[in-house]
Amino acid sequence: MSERIVVVGGGFAGSGVARRLERLAPDADIRLVCPDDYMLYLPLLPQVAAGVLPAPAAVVSLSRRLRRTVVVPGRATGIDLDARRVLVRSITGNPEVLGYDRLVLAPGSVTKVMDVPGLREYGRGCKTLAEAAYLRDHVLGQLEVANTSDDPDERARRCRFVVVGGGYAGVETAANLQLMTTALARRFPRLDPGLVQWHVVQHHDGLMPGLGDRLGEDTRRVLESRGIHVDLGVSLAAVDDESATLSDGRRLPTQTLIWTAGVSPSPLMGHLDAATDHGRLVVGADLSVPGHPEVLAIGDAAAVPDLATGGGAVCPPTAQHASRQAPVAADNVVAGLAGAPTREYRHRDLGMVVDLGGTDAVAKPFGVDLSGAVAAGVTRAYHLWAMRAPAAMARVASAWTLSALHGASAVRLGFLTGASGRLAEFEHTDDYLDPAATRAAIEGLRPRVPRG
Ligand SMILES: Cc1cc2nc3c(=O)[nH]c(=O)nc-3n(C[C@H](O)[C@H](O)[C@H](O)COP(=O)(O)OP(=O)(O)OC[C@H]3O[C@@H](n4cnc5c(N)ncnc54)[C@H](O)[C@@H]3O)c2cc1C
Repeated sequence: MSERIVVVGGGFAGSGVARRLERLAPDADIRLVCPDDYMLYLPLLPQVAAGVLPAPAAVVSLSRRLRRTVVVPGRATGIDLDARRVLVRSITGNPEVLGYDRLVLAPGSVTKVMDVPGLREYGRGCKTLAEAAYLRDHVLGQLEVANTSDDPDERARRCRFVVVGGGYAGVETAANLQLMTTALARRFPRLDPGLVQWHVVQHHDGLMPGLGDRLGEDTRRVLESRGIHVDLGVSLAAVDDESATLSDGRRLPTQTLIWTAGVSPSPLMGHLDAATDHGRLVVGADLSVPGHPEVLAIGDAAAVPDLATGGGAVCPPTAQHASRQAPVAADNVVAGLAGAPTREYRHRDLGMVVDLGGTDAVAKPFGVDLSGAVAAGVTRAYHLWAMRAPAAMARVASAWTLSALHGASAVRLGFLTGASGRLAEFEHTDDYLDPAATRAAIEGLRPRVPRG
């Protein structure tokens, strides 16, 4: 019988593992559990929200990326590590059980929603494709309503946008959307573009602390030169339908609160009988779970020792680490099945690229600080290279060219009809079962042998 390998998650980490396993383990039965049929290239989401890219340009189809792997459309909701079984809730809502000889866990992370009054109900994220599309519709809708309103307070409120989080996700989201909204406001006959106000609220003393002081300052200069308010050293205290209150007591009238203040590992990790570190599953340098050599975990969901940095550090949750851990995990799965020695994950960070819209960007490739048009060129070249799928690269490059020639596509697609698009709709935190509940659920699925 062929070995059964189950991969949970179809992102940078999970799809990378399955792709390599197809080559290294030609006889294995590979199943990849994922609620979506695509690998999402998250760094491009702010550009989707800002209409620079259409939503399909930010994804790589799993059926194109993977040839032999069976993609199981659903969400892993519980795992019985002792019995080696994964409980899956299919996209139809039906449960399914997958047995495995080797398991690779790569379910990524979710938006870290903090205990701020009103946040779940009124905040909006930019972590999934649907959220990015909803965000665009919402922001465009605000300008349209402001354009027709005769109430000056309402016009100002709808034209103010508050982004909480000054990491790369928040900065890119604010920078790209600000370009879209100011360009659009010029086209609305009753709207003064000066009414459009963007705020970036950051609890640290600088933007993107991971990139160093200089690039953080360069970024702040670019944002402020465009009129974006950068509020450092403050956080969000509360939000409601019509305002955001900051920790320094200021109340900003707004109907748009975008929350990008960090990520939490997939809640699935906290529902296993295994140790976690800040919610990430603890693994050794060979990516295996202590006490369960048949289970590996990688990407945002795993606390992978950062051997290149040392001192007990774990790898930061970046696409760079997730995609480089994937081949090591695949190699170690195959080594484990063959009874051969495994290898350790060791990777020195190559730096970050941050797209600020138009020809603005900051980047730090190989420790060199870059800003302006050179950084923008490096940023876009890096994204194209990192997609590693010719069709996806062509789609992105042609969309960038179109946007450069004709501006972002500022049309509201109507996604928000019947949905709010707010954070509470995207959490899925209640989906998961602990090991005892997982066992009971699996037991309940066993076909009953008729008596008599
Ligand atoms: C706006 C934004 C910009 C970013 N920009 C950068 C950047 O410029 N550079 C960089 O290095 N990093 C960037 N990141 C971070 C980067 O995207 C993540 O670190 C990376 O996606 C992690 O890869 P992953 O495979 O672990 O998780 P993901 O890419 O999130 O993939 C997780 C996969 O698991 C699936 N899944 C989730 N739960 C389950 C479940 N229970 N069962 C089955 N499947 C499940 C998901 O649907 C998804 O397919 C950015 C993130 C955001 C949000």
